[in-house]
Amino acid sequence: MADQPLDMLAIAAHPDDIEITCGGLLIKAGRRGRRVGALDLSKGEMGTQGDENDRKREAARAAEIMGLHYRYNLEMPDSAIEYTHVNKLKVAQAIRDTRPELVILPHWAQRHPDHLACTRLGYDACFLAGLRKAALTGEPHRPRKILYVSYFRNTDYSFLVDISDVMRQKLEAVAAYTSQFGHDLTIDDMLQMGADELHERSQRARKDIFHPGVIIYDLMLTRSRALGQTVGVRYAEAYTIKEQVLIDDPLNLPNPSV
Ligand SMILES: [Zn+2]
Repeated sequence: MADQPLDMLAIAAHPDDIEITCGGLLIKAGRRGRRVGALDLSKGEMGTQGDENDRKREAARAAEIMGLHYRYNLEMPDSAIEYTHVNKLKVAQAIRDTRPELVILPHWAQRHPDHLACTRLGYDACFLAGLRKAALTGEPHRPRKILYVSYFRNTDYSFLVDISDVMRQKLEAVAAYTSQFGHDLTIDDMLQMGADELHERSQRARKDIFHPGVIIYDLMLTRSRALGQTVGVRYAEAYTIKEQVLIDDPLNLPNPSV
């Protein structure tokens, strides 16, 4: 249980999902003095490389790098996370325990079934956590806002977050998962290399494979740079919300149209 309510809680299926997707926003929020946490649904024990102890140690190190106030693992079976009422209640209990104002879930456009189950469980858990009569301990709590972070498959973004100042820490947090994404490059190398060189060097290390043929650092740098270019910043992360965006004064909107 978190000792004080969290401002922000990211929920994901596997350790390292959060770092790769919304790591920049979490680091940035932490630097602003927000209380930020991560809830992992599984220990990632089905990953080809490394065992669950490696992943546990690596997740703790990544949490340190990101400046998290809370990280907890619900230990659901990796690659068999199911959309059930029991699992909804497990996530809802974690929400009651941490009382976040904002929850970050995976976007619903997904390749991995665990990620899809996670976003559905997460939404239902936010609802259930607020029901007084739900089979949960603690006071009812319903997060005010849900953001869906892009897992690189969707393009229906509602807004982008400038992560230029924290891109280095985001890469470091992912690099903490040495069993998954081991490499012989420094973060400086990664930030300075062209895409081709990064791809070639990473392939030689043979470990940094995210999906077949995809180098994780290459994917993160290329996508966040491309998103950043569309709004005039170096690196950005993309988020979708299901509500309309309410604006008080359009004169304050950043990012020129013409
Ligand atoms: Zn995952």
